Amino acid sequence: MAGRSLARHRVVVVGAGFAGLRAARDLADVAVEVTIVDARNHHTFQPLLYQVATAGLDADDVCYATRGIFHRQSNARAIRAQVVGADLGARTVELADGAVLAYDHLVLAAGGVTADFGVPGVLEHGFGLKSAADAVAIRTHVLERFERCERDPSRIDDGELTLVVAGGGPTGVEMAGGFAELINHVLRRDFPSVDVNRARVVLIEAADRLLGTFAPKLGRSAERKLGRIGVEVLLGTQVDRVTASSVVLADGRTIDTGTLVWAAGIKANPLGAALGLEVDRGGRIVVDRDLRVASHPEILVIGDLAAARDIDGSLLPQVAPAAIQAGAHAAKVIKAELRGGRPVGRFRYRDKGSMATIGRNSAVVELPSGQTVTGLAGWVAWLCLHLVMLIGFRNRANVVVNWAWNYLTYDRASRLIIEDRPLPPRVGGPG
Ligand SMILES: Cc1cc2nc3c(=O)[nH]c(=O)nc-3n(C[C@H](O)[C@H](O)[C@H](O)COP(=O)(O)OP(=O)(O)OC[C@H]3O[C@@H](n4cnc5c(N)ncnc54)[C@H](O)[C@@H]3O)c2cc1C
Repeated sequence: MAGRSLARHRVVVVGAGFAGLRAARDLADVAVEVTIVDARNHHTFQPLLYQVATAGLDADDVCYATRGIFHRQSNARAIRAQVVGADLGARTVELADGAVLAYDHLVLAAGGVTADFGVPGVLEHGFGLKSAADAVAIRTHVLERFERCERDPSRIDDGELTLVVAGGGPTGVEMAGGFAELINHVLRRDFPSVDVNRARVVLIEAADRLLGTFAPKLGRSAERKLGRIGVEVLLGTQVDRVTASSVVLADGRTIDTGTLVWAAGIKANPLGAALGLEVDRGGRIVVDRDLRVASHPEILVIGDLAAARDIDGSLLPQVAPAAIQAGAHAAKVIKAELRGGRPVGRFRYRDKGSMATIGRNSAVVELPSGQTVTGLAGWVAWLCLHLVMLIGFRNRANVVVNWAWNYLTYDRASRLIIEDRPLPPRVGGPG
């Protein structure tokens, strides 16, 4: 940090997701030293990860190097490190390499992890979708299934071209729609000798409708649209267990599959329990109305990791707007304390509505007023909102260019299989 004068009050922010970034940025105008720690060296825009998994965008279109985000914020620095523990009495956090960071305020914003709900085989054989690495792994795996079936078509009989998505929430709906379009528009042309008509996309949902948090008519609209592009939707269906080559349903049916994407839920990052803080049944850290830990008021918890409650007592949804608003609130709390002035008042969540896209020209949007928008108008609203929320001009420009290209040509440029295998030994090289 040569050349920068850092103030003495130390704020450590754990997690450079929506919540942590907002908290750190909102502290730009106060005399504090902000250290933002993330296990990855980048912020991930999770709402567009499904497009990376389905070859519509590149990983670096939806991620942004955290150090770059703070270039212009002289009181902040970003470091790549995993927080593994803390000494809450001494006010230090412990990093995976054994180093410790001292804080005066600690803001925990470590988000969530994939929840397998105890279904056997999910973690071993399924793909979660929480990171750019997950998305690229899914893309690679699906493309490799098609390569394998071209060489040995009998694999199609074993279900290698059957893609199962578990979970009919927004992520599952978007994944299933994205897979169907990838197969229909791109892989059909890439693999002319493969009988792509036998490829299947199956979306499994335990409840009796899709998009359970949306108005019922939007769930039905999504189901109709998915049906039109060839997705098989199984409602009221539970996954009992997963093997390397199949998904076994609770009703006894078995779906032979080459790919399972588990979009059935997330749970809080286990960091709360690791730090010895009180957590609820979902692992979210219990906080007061100000988003503080009651026993350690110098610790604030925000975003998906916090068991923050709305005015009516309900748990806040684990969505980006709630995380961003909580980040802004945490910064206000810290500023108010430093000023020694009046407390800022309880955290109030302002619902911004929900949306999910189902594919080309189609999305469902529900506004906080209960009004709904579907079809092309919903899709345009979805595109605009995601562009506005993305970080960085370069990312926005790349995404616009990619979307325009995909829309006009029906192509998907980001379908490289980047192999991570050792190269064959060089002839005559060391043995
Ligand atoms: C596939 C997908 C699609 C989604 N789509 C939408 C959508 O369309 N609209 C919407 O509103 N919401 C959506 N969400 C939810 C939204 O992305 C989350 O609510 C939001 O990201 C939560 O923000 P956060 O800052 O709490 O956590 P995150 O954004 O998850 O960030 C947490 C950060 O903490 C870091 N971290 C974790 N553990 C540690 C550790 N021990 N040490 C250091 N760093 C750590 C992680 O690397 C990560 O960068 C989606 C989520 C997913 C997974």
